[in-house]
Amino acid sequence: MGLVNVMTFVDLPIRRKFLIFSGGVLFWFVVMFLITIAALVNVNDQSGIIVNTLMREDRIAQKMVKDLQTLNVDVAELVKAEDVASVMRMIEISKARLEAVNSLLSTINPGASAEDHSPGTGKPVAISATAPAVERLVGEDYVKNYVEQMSPLLAGVTRQFGELAQLKLAQRIAPHKENASLEQELRELQQSISRSIAASNGLSGTVETLIATAAHEIKTVIAYAVVAAVCTLLLAAVLQVLFTRWIANSIANPVSSIIDQIHALGKGEAELGNKISITSKDDIGTLSAEFNGLMESIHKMTMFKKVIEEDDSLEDVYSRLGKIFQEVGIGEYMIYEVPIGQNKLKPVYPLVMSNEEISCDADILDNCDLCKAKKTGHMISSIAYPQMCKMFLPQQEKEHVCIPMIVGGNAGGVVQFVFDKPGPDGVRAIQRKVFEASQYVKESQSVIEAKRLMSTVRESALNDALTGLKNRRFLQEYTENLVAGALRRGKSTGLIMCDLDYFKQVNDTHGHSAGDEILKETANIIKKSIRDADILIRFGGEEFLAVLLDIKEGGSVAIAEKIRQNMEQAKFKVKDGILRKTISLGISEFPLDTNLFWQAIKFADVALYKAKEGGRNKAVRFTKDMWVDERF
Ligand code: GH3
Ligand code: MG
Ligand code: MG
Repeated sequence: MGLVNVMTFVDLPIRRKFLIFSGGVLFWFVVMFLITIAALVNVNDQSGIIVNTLMREDRIAQKMVKDLQTLNVDVAELVKAEDVASVMRMIEISKARLEAVNSLLSTINPGASAEDHSPGTGKPVAISATAPAVERLVGEDYVKNYVEQMSPLLAGVTRQFGELAQLKLAQRIAPHKENASLEQELRELQQSISRSIAASNGLSGTVETLIATAAHEIKTVIAYAVVAAVCTLLLAAVLQVLFTRWIANSIANPVSSIIDQIHALGKGEAELGNKISITSKDDIGTLSAEFNGLMESIHKMTMFKKVIEEDDSLEDVYSRLGKIFQEVGIGEYMIYEVPIGQNKLKPVYPLVMSNEEISCDADILDNCDLCKAKKTGHMISSIAYPQMCKMFLPQQEKEHVCIPMIVGGNAGGVVQFVFDKPGPDGVRAIQRKVFEASQYVKESQSVIEAKRLMSTVRESALNDALTGLKNRRFLQEYTENLVAGALRRGKSTGLIMCDLDYFKQVNDTHGHSAGDEILKETANIIKKSIRDADILIRFGGEEFLAVLLDIKEGGSVAIAEKIRQNMEQAKFKVKDGILRKTISLGISEFPLDTNLFWQAIKFADVALYKAKEGGRNKAVRFTKDMWVDERF
């Protein structure tokens, strides 16, 4: 994968990929251009040799042949000439012809720079040295050989012509003399001319062969160039197609996956856990990774909300939030709640044993408006503005960020994050952590509020509105817990049933509201007589049940007596003055008297009845003999 990625430039940024792509196209254009230029240069060289060297040499050779043939005829005519004038004219003509032939030979000589007169046009033709390329073709210097062959031949022809001319002139002066030697001389001259013609024809033949060879070479070069161009074109096309496919796939596949996921997300069908596979390290790879990260946070957030919605208690929700804060990297935090209908702040998570454990002035607990985040409904950060909130206790090297939990326009609580003072790079890290954590706070706000409302409703169903004590329904719901706890700890639970004596009279004499007041005060008196951990229940109209947890056997009698005495000493203010009331109490102990909890309550009630019977203002311990009705 890695090597393929390197070879196909998959890991390079898209911009660079396309630059390389264009570079590739340009490269193949250049290769094609070079092939064409190389072919053209070669063809040009070859055709230059043909036109400038070989054809010129051929022309010279052919002219040489033609001139020599004419000379042949001229010398024959010279021999045949009758009168002196004709003889003289033919000698001149032949002489001129011979000079032309000699001059032609000198023009073909390698290195010669003389001018020749083109037989066709009569215009001067520049003569250059024989091209080395031609020498290479035949493997020998054919022009030099020709010149070496022709020079003595032409010298012979010139000499023989001179002798022939002399003979002819002499004959004209003494006719019919030495006729035989004239004929002989002519024959020898014509033989020399024929040899020269043959040599020149030989040159012409050689040159024509060379022209054919060069022409063939041009054809071959063009054929090679065409094949090279076609192959290059095919290779370029294959490479470009493969490269385009790789690049297109590496871009198109992840992009279409992202589009599919977004589409599914819009319809609510997205599998949030599904991830896009990352096949490259380019911009698309980064985009895929970012998208996966986004989907993961949405997934985590959705799962988180689902889980906290199903949590049984607010404590569970807070502890999950706490875990998320830890995961995000925030070790120090505090969740505060504004109890419904109160102007207070209550630290709810993590649990605190004393007010000294919170990072703020404890005054905020009694007046939540002192907390700036609660009051303004905005995030308050000492990093953004030092000492933004005066309530944050000045601590060395500490910063705070407080986020209000807004529900229905009001802050129902505040989450406080505390950080060590960050270095120059640390601020961004803190901002990132706070941002992530605040997303979870936002997600959980509605769930927290719903659970708080639910628990308020529940609380009110289990509480007595007049005295604020727990009611009989609470006892019914929590019996199981109470019994399990008592049995597990192996401790006794004391049950004291209390009933005010002659309470009806209070209502009758002082009114129902005075009776209510006395009931509230009685509840307080009993509460103060027992421990905080004990539970006081308004059992009926003016009956209270004190559930004393973890008491020593028989220990509840003393408590009942304490209650009785406290009641006896209490003075109740009524409109007409001061009122005193007594109370009767029946005591039983669970599981000592019975291992059925509700039977133990009944026994306390039986004992209470005995107290009333015994004259009231008494605390009576249940004994077995009191229980006659076995059908509980
Ligand atoms: P004793 O218990 O000593 O036998 O006499 P008692 O007068 O207290 O008799 P009983 O317990 O039968 O009467 C209870 C009275 O308490 C009846 C009712 O008028 C009164 N009561 C019950 N609930 C309330 C309440 O919520 N407010 C007021 N003001 N009175 C109540
Ligand atoms: Mg009663
Ligand atoms: Mg009573």
